[in-house]
Amino acid sequence: MPTMMSKSTIGTEIKYDAIVIGAGFGGLYMLKKLRDELKLKVRVFDKAKDVGGTWYWNRYPGALSDTEAFTYCFSWDQDLLQEWDITTRYLTQPQILKYINHVADRHNLRQDIQFETVITAAEFNEESSRWLISTNDGGKYSAKYLVTALGLLSATNVPNINGIDQFKGELYHTANWPGDANLNGKRVGVIGTGSTGTQVVTAIAPVVGSLTVFQRSPQYMVPVGNGPVSKEYVDNIKRNYDSIWEQVKSSKVAFGFEESQIPTMSVSEAEREKIFQNAWEKGGGFRFMFETFSDIAIDEKANIAAQDFIRKKISEIVKDPETARKLTPRDLYAKRPLCDSGYYATFNRENVALVDVKANPIKEITVSGLRTEDGVDHELDVLIFATGFDAVDGNYKRINIRGRNGIAIQEHWKEGPSSYLSVATANFPNMFMILGPNGPFTNLPPTIETEVEWVSEIIAYMEEEKLSSMEPNIEAETLWSGTCREIADKTLFSKADSWIFGANIPGKPHTVYFYLGGLGAFREVLHDVRKDNYRGFKFETQNSSDKKNTLTKQMQKEDA
Ligand code: FAD
Ligand code: NAP
Repeated sequence: MPTMMSKSTIGTEIKYDAIVIGAGFGGLYMLKKLRDELKLKVRVFDKAKDVGGTWYWNRYPGALSDTEAFTYCFSWDQDLLQEWDITTRYLTQPQILKYINHVADRHNLRQDIQFETVITAAEFNEESSRWLISTNDGGKYSAKYLVTALGLLSATNVPNINGIDQFKGELYHTANWPGDANLNGKRVGVIGTGSTGTQVVTAIAPVVGSLTVFQRSPQYMVPVGNGPVSKEYVDNIKRNYDSIWEQVKSSKVAFGFEESQIPTMSVSEAEREKIFQNAWEKGGGFRFMFETFSDIAIDEKANIAAQDFIRKKISEIVKDPETARKLTPRDLYAKRPLCDSGYYATFNRENVALVDVKANPIKEITVSGLRTEDGVDHELDVLIFATGFDAVDGNYKRINIRGRNGIAIQEHWKEGPSSYLSVATANFPNMFMILGPNGPFTNLPPTIETEVEWVSEIIAYMEEEKLSSMEPNIEAETLWSGTCREIADKTLFSKADSWIFGANIPGKPHTVYFYLGGLGAFREVLHDVRKDNYRGFKFETQNSSDKKNTLTKQMQKEDA
């Protein structure tokens, strides 16, 4: 296990001040803050072969961020904001990966990252107030601080479908996409029609021989509106970056536009149609839901108006009425808003077929394809799972994380994951989470930055005040869960089944996983808690822990 860093070793255990898990946006910025500003000895681990997180893993054709490029990046490197070239309105996976690699190189981050290493266990030692970390290759490490930047859309969900192991063709999950996958001319099946499935379907339809889309739930989609951007557009952004970030960080969804203040039903039908049509032409899922009107996500009548508009578009775009019917959602428009590059029109292609697996469920995967309940065998060379993620806490449950008194995180979170302010959870001292449960539901880089900066301030505070441990009170955590529940219940999102409420995984607690109050409000809460001497947290000082250690050692001696 080579390391280029200074380190002290006790037995086989290598000591750091902080260990960070994950080398995506979150982990990289955390490393930068802790190492370069706080001057701590930091080690980052990632199971991937390189940096990027989401953008390392999700290499499927069509993978695109639907946050506009100017705000899907770090705001803290101001020089880079000016230097980095924006050429398209949105960023494809290779563009984002290139950006993240550049950040890693520019800030010499790679030297402190250990790739291809899975963290399998993390145990808090109450005597030393340190985390003991184990890796899949037998490595043992310890650190005072453990930062989990595990990703909220990272643990893949592969549904347990009968016969999955007998399939003789190629089987891929979109979030573990092999670089050398060749779909040209092949008979391809795609299970799943979320953000990922709709992107992959649209991208591969022109190159595959035949494409069968196994759809369980139809989706409301609007065009993404990607394309090249002009020099004026880019210059304008670069000139105004300070005010752009200020707006982003004080807004609700942080997507770089002002959210509408106009209720849907306060305008005439003709005006409503015009506003929806403009948004359709401009593109962007979050813009369609939040920039058009103020109440699509909270008021049923408003929501139906948006639904009706999209349903009409589907009937206009899709030529075959039966396919159009299957593609048309009838439920609430209250999942993550989606946008596409021609998804509905893809079903006008001769080589694309749609199977409604809600009406006609998947029975089993066979040696040569997939069999539906009606007995039809869909012969396939390649089967793609675009079936999403065990979101938010999925990666936590895959690690043996144990806090005070050996409590397992799975036990602490058995009713569903909880946190205090998304960044910490009771009984797990000195463990700080980036995008932990009950954090803001937004464009994520600005939320990641917010959390990384706040965690960095807490750690700086602990170092200054010589605190040995810090963790939230269970009461503070319960109160925060209640706040998140209260806000969620005021929205229509809580009435729709999606990963946002844990509804996509059989057996997963169907509860609140996000703070739907917006990034601006979240930042205010963080600011107030900090100003109020970290209200809701409890501390131990180094003295008290020294005393505890001394006592323990004395007791050991007496026992001996
Ligand atoms: P991640 O990028 O997920 O990184 C987590 C890392 O932790 C991974 O590299 C993983 O390998 C590592 N890890 C996890 N467990 C372990 C372990 N036990 N041991 C070692 N390493 C471990 N968000 C937006 O705001 N806008 C978008 O347009 C958008 N598009 C998306 C498109 C796709 C296809 C997906 C899947 C997500 C998208 N997201 C989008 C969400 C995206 O995940 C975040 O924007 C962001 O990239 C998350 O960064 P992160 O560092 O928090 O986590
Ligand atoms: P997802 O939204 O959870 O979609 C998964 C799809 O798989 C759904 O259509 C689901 O159907 C289907 N599915 C799951 N299990 C199934 C089963 N057993 N049988 C049949 N169908 C099954 O996952 P995702 O598409 O990967 O997206 C997750 C999130 O990642 C997005 O919401 C977004 O935040 C992010 N993302 C963003 C972009 C982007 O454009 N920026 C792109 C990709 C991902 P049901 O709906 O019926 O459950």
